[in-house]
This record gives sequence, structure tokens and C-alpha cells, in this order.
Amino acid sequence: MSIVTVERKILKKNDELAAENRQIFKENGIFTVNLLSSPGSGKTTLLEKTLEILNHTVNIGVVEGDVQTDNDAQRIARYDVPVVQIVTNGGCHLEAKLVQNALENFTLSSLDLLIIENVGNLVCPASYDLGEAHKIVMVSTTEGDDKPAKYPAMFRVSDLMIINKIDLLDYVDFAMQKVRKHALTINPNLHIIELSCKSGQGFDAWIDWIKGKLSSYTIK
Ligand code: MG
Ligand code: ZN
Repeated sequence: MSIVTVERKILKKNDELAAENRQIFKENGIFTVNLLSSPGSGKTTLLEKTLEILNHTVNIGVVEGDVQTDNDAQRIARYDVPVVQIVTNGGCHLEAKLVQNALENFTLSSLDLLIIENVGNLVCPASYDLGEAHKIVMVSTTEGDDKPAKYPAMFRVSDLMIINKIDLLDYVDFAMQKVRKHALTINPNLHIIELSCKSGQGFDAWIDWIKGKLSSYTIK
């Protein structure tokens, strides 16, 4: 029973800090998304492709969350965007406090879009609000088609599901309609985009989604 209480206290404190982050984002006109998936779904690759396309028209900052190493931040830094790596040292999710600390390293007034790549994990990041406008959950065709069924919480709290690696559909057992149906049963408002970061197929829909959100968000 006491464990449950401690957990609740931690989440309550996190919610308070997330509300502070949300206020910081609002004051600085920053549209923030929290990108979530299992390890290896292609979050960093999605970011790289997105930066290639949007980097010259949108001021983008990136927060990289990883259990160990700054490999992903190094990949992102090649695009000449401000990037801050949070190494959780074993921690399996980002918390609002960690993000708040990371924000000190950005010139916030010059950012339009902040993308937070969370630790690869479909379980507890669902419970930790970071102050983002939207959670985006990513699944890929190579990791099986039971992710929504197994991790419903993540699909419930997300506003967008990206299904990556559709260029491999002919080679993997991935029932697209089953995944879409499960996800929409959990969250009827979930927006779904199918794409391949590798072939570029469907990528326009993602860019359009983010541009649309960005324009409606910055016009206050
Ligand atoms: Mg990554
Ligand atoms: Zn965790």
C-alpha cells in the first residue's frame, strides 16, 4: 500500500513540474512534442529526416533522452540544431524535472518547435507528463503488431501514432488493419500516419501534421 502512495506522490510532483514546463513553452511560443516508442522503432531516424526538411524554415530544438550514451544527440547535432542529451543512467523514462533542467541550455525565445525523444520504452513514459502539447507514439512493422494490445496506456495518452518501416510490409508479419483497429479501440481520437523514414513514403503526411500544428499553435 505504501508503495502505491509513494508512486502517487512522485506523479503528483511530476505533474506540477510539467505544468511549469507547459507555461514556459507557452510564454516562449514553443510547440513541444514528446516522441515515444520501443527501442529501435526509428525515433532518431524520424528526427533526422524531419530536420533535413524543416530545419531551414522552423527553429527546432531537440532533447534526447537515453539510458546511456549520447549517440543519438551526436546524430542530431550534425544538423546544426541545438540539442541537449539527457542520460538517465538506467532510468527508463524522462521526467518533467529533467526536461526543465535541460531547458536551461536552450535560447528559448528563438525556438518554435521542441522535439523530445523519450527513452525507448512503451510503459512508464505514458504516466510522465513533460509539459508537451502532444505525445506521439511510434511503432514499426518489424516489432510485431501487438503493441497497442500490450501497451494500451501509451496509445490512450497519445494524439498521434506513427507506423514506421512500411517499406518492409512485404517481408514481415504485421497486420496493419489489426494494429489500426486495436489502437482506435483504445483511443478513437488517435490520428494515424503510416510512413517509411527510409524510403520517404508517407513522410509528407507527417510533415503536414507538424506544420499544421505549428501554425495553429503559434498564432495566439
Ligand atoms: Mg533514439
Ligand atoms: Zn520508467
